[in-house]
Amino acid sequence: MMATDREAAQPRNVNRSPEYAPLLQVEGLRKHFTVTRGFPKRETVTVRAVDGVSFSIAPGEALGLVGESGCGKSTAARALLRLIEPDAGRVLYRGQDVTAARGGDLRALRQRMQIVFQDPYSSLDPRQTIGSALIEPLRLHGIARGPAARDRAAALLEEVGLPPSALDRFPHEFSGGQRQRIGIARALTVEPELIVADEPVSALDVSVQAQVLLLLRDLQRRRGLSFLFVSHDLSVVRWFCDRVAVMYLGRIIEEGPVDRVLRDPLHPYARVLRDASPVPDPALRGALPRLTGELPSAASPPRGCHFHPRCPRALPVCATAYPGWTATGQGGVACHLHGPGTPAA
Ligand code: SF4
Repeated sequence: MMATDREAAQPRNVNRSPEYAPLLQVEGLRKHFTVTRGFPKRETVTVRAVDGVSFSIAPGEALGLVGESGCGKSTAARALLRLIEPDAGRVLYRGQDVTAARGGDLRALRQRMQIVFQDPYSSLDPRQTIGSALIEPLRLHGIARGPAARDRAAALLEEVGLPPSALDRFPHEFSGGQRQRIGIARALTVEPELIVADEPVSALDVSVQAQVLLLLRDLQRRRGLSFLFVSHDLSVVRWFCDRVAVMYLGRIIEEGPVDRVLRDPLHPYARVLRDASPVPDPALRGALPRLTGELPSAASPPRGCHFHPRCPRALPVCATAYPGWTATGQGGVACHLHGPGTPAA
């Protein structure tokens, strides 16, 4: 499905010219957690889950945020929505500071940015009908009440491929794919411009994944939605997204157009991640060794480049200095191989 539908999905007109204002701008976002661990000797450590993350999303664009489990991508998504409070950094939505917003301003901003979770079942109240789950946000945001709200909820269900009769049923009566459609319908109730999709298809069977991805792509086109698409699955990101940002231990280590980054990754970690993923065209795979070793703990990241203990191309400097960000035309990379005055890649 992915390879054949990809061509039809590609030619979209996302404006990223320098003078065009981004829809969402994230600058130096940081979220650390203090945790107690160890037995019998207990110690308190700081986990640097998100450690200075920056990116932007243009109107109508889909940005993939990828990396291994535990790299901080879901925490970054929740922190930018302020579902958890960030420690530092700024999030600007159409130039308005989300991180500083309070009360009604924050509610209005949250209306513009909605999240779709990996497991919609855990975000649906099992005692609440689908109708009341959809009508509640319509009422709370003053969008519709009474019969008009019910009509609107029914129309939303039809838009995501479910019959209006679903309004009177409960979450346990639906399959995983149907529940994800309900989660998407609920996100759409408040007419958002940006959807943060946190591993939206990874809990679904492959055939159902394809249907939900096609639905999301269809909604993106019809409604002009922007997406932050959090995923560990590069083949899904490759199909759905315009750009991709690769995270490692709480930081973005490469970012750029999805075709370029997955065809010719500059950062050795992005390359190994790409090579480890089921990319449809085997000719695109490189000859580098597979990733060895565990993802280090974000409580004690290695000194220098965090990737250097696992990096097949590490230089002496990599063990002592974290690489700066080097712009690469339409993106950038944090790697000493590509910094100014360092050896050619
Ligand atoms: Fe590898 Fe050094 Fe680049 Fe880190 S900075 S990815 S260790 S080459």
